[in-house]
Amino acid sequence: MVSMPTPILFLFTGGTIAMRTDPASGAAVPALAGQEILAFDPEMARVCTPVVVDYGCFPGPHITPERMWEISEILERELERDEIAGAVITHGTDTLEETAYFLDLRHHSPKPVVLVGAMRNASELSYDGPANLRAAVRVAMDPASRDQGVMVVLNETIHAAAEVTKSDTQAVETFVSPVFGALGIVDEDRVLFGRRSLLRDPINATACEYRVDLIEAFAGADSRFIDHALATGAQGLVINGMGRGNVPPPMIPGIQRALDAGLPVVLASRCVQGRILDTYGYEGSGRDLRQRGILFAGTLSGAKARLRLMLALGLTRDRTQIGLLMERWAY
Ligand code: ASP
Repeated sequence: MVSMPTPILFLFTGGTIAMRTDPASGAAVPALAGQEILAFDPEMARVCTPVVVDYGCFPGPHITPERMWEISEILERELERDEIAGAVITHGTDTLEETAYFLDLRHHSPKPVVLVGAMRNASELSYDGPANLRAAVRVAMDPASRDQGVMVVLNETIHAAAEVTKSDTQAVETFVSPVFGALGIVDEDRVLFGRRSLLRDPINATACEYRVDLIEAFAGADSRFIDHALATGAQGLVINGMGRGNVPPPMIPGIQRALDAGLPVVLASRCVQGRILDTYGYEGSGRDLRQRGILFAGTLSGAKARLRLMLALGLTRDRTQIGLLMERWAY
């Protein structure tokens, strides 16, 4: 008797991997459903049995936290089926690291989940979608991938959701993990892990507080954007600070107003690499902000810290608990 290859969930959400060049405009637009993407690799049916869910065909910038929540609900529901060994999720690379991290925070089963995309669309000679998809499937099926949470695979490289970021606007080797490096590689049909990520810290939230804003510090920045966030109902703030975690002094009155109003305010860094710390002691420094009650995002980017705060606020409004949820994983 011939046995069926292992069933793998394919959740298609869009991105360049699902795009073609529109002949009229010459620009890439959403075009392909899941089965059409899979058809580029006729051998895939020998590797696994695809269980296809077409969530949508959204460009990365059209993905919202509300959609991340929906994708997460579908993912966890499908993974409860015993026969499904793991999941591959196609996604636009622009927001791929955000959805990967959001899904990782809500993923509790040992089954591997791999996000994948492409930097060249299906009309281009060097379409990297099928090869990336095949590599992602190899990772999703590998026994060593179990209990590693949500991973990202592009260009034959495996990254942890909490650590990965898009670094190049157009290169196929765009995804990097600046602080700790990649988890492993895919070499033809073999998956080789060099390390495991020790930074996973899921949040068991059954709700999400979407009203959390991310505000960038820049030379000469003041409190106007913070005050606008407060006036329009923000329930939490993430400040993308400078360097080790510092902001221009004119941002301080707005941050203080947010803290006085009882909002959790989290400090991340615009730097792509490194950790937030209270090294400096001048006005607007990490130490100044710390003494006022700001929380530190550790090595998380501002965008990921925002998603973490959304789920933390979905779980509890207790300030001590939120402080623990935001900081315990990184220290
Ligand atoms: N702009 C595209 C998107 O995120 C980029 C890609 O998928 O590679 O949808």
